[in-house]
Amino acid sequence: MNLVVVNKITELREIIKQYKKEGKTIGLVPTMGCLHKGHASLIKKSSQTCDITVVSVFVNPVQFGPNEDYDKYPRTLESDRQLAAENGACLIFAPSAAQMYPGMLKFSDITMVAPPFKLVDMMCGKSRTGHFDGVCTVVTKLFNIVQPDYAFFGMKDIQQLYIIKKMTADLNIPVEIVPCPLVREESGLALSSRNTYLSDADKKSALSISQSLFTIQNAVKNGIIDTKKLFDTAMAVMDRNVEPEYIEFVDRETFEPVEQIDRPSIAAIAARVNSVRLIDNILIGD
Ligand code: AMP
Repeated sequence: MNLVVVNKITELREIIKQYKKEGKTIGLVPTMGCLHKGHASLIKKSSQTCDITVVSVFVNPVQFGPNEDYDKYPRTLESDRQLAAENGACLIFAPSAAQMYPGMLKFSDITMVAPPFKLVDMMCGKSRTGHFDGVCTVVTKLFNIVQPDYAFFGMKDIQQLYIIKKMTADLNIPVEIVPCPLVREESGLALSSRNTYLSDADKKSALSISQSLFTIQNAVKNGIIDTKKLFDTAMAVMDRNVEPEYIEFVDRETFEPVEQIDRPSIAAIAARVNSVRLIDNILIGD
């Protein structure tokens, strides 16, 4: 099937309406573009699950803080198109900011969808004020525009995945959220569009982020379950050019912070390398 790129909401709605009439199932993979193998795994999973896969490519201004990288975020629609097609997508929805937020002069001009405070008063939500409001708002808009049966999200952004699952349940949005495993480079580094900002030397330093998580995982397997000790173990392997923002431990079901890894949990980290903010996480305690 040929891949079609659509920029206008009305045009996309018409195409989706036709597919729905034909009884086709729709999968949505929301992205900000600069697609890599992590995104490819979501697109592949969607095209295996659904008749029609829509990949949205939209750098969403309302999820970026004033001092973040909205302007310089990589925009690579031509190669995105190729990767999406190779992995079975039928449609790319790539709207402009004006198409998604007509007449928006400031964030306070639009209706926002806000997750519960306790879910954002931790991990990435703490340093990125308003970020998850922006994410929930754009994902709700995309759900309303595309009306997918399934939507695919990566476990790389584990807090985002949890918040979106909660939002979808709380707001009775009729879409099934499908979590997809985190994809790493062979070196262990979690794939991210922001890795394109890293020099070779930065990448080498960044490797200690995933290494610190593997160290935590091994320590838990060896019976160390106290998170303070695990934190210290992780910090001991961190490259000196890495500035950790947080290392947090949460229950995999409830997303509540845990002090002992005595149940299925997640260790999550955010850190800066040469001012590039990277996130990663690992499943522990099974
Ligand atoms: P982004 O374009 O960074 O907003 O990511 C779009 C989707 O791709 C999100 O659901 C991410 O969690 C997912 N994703 C990004 N990187 C990875 C990765 N390395 N492994 C799995 N999923 C990923």
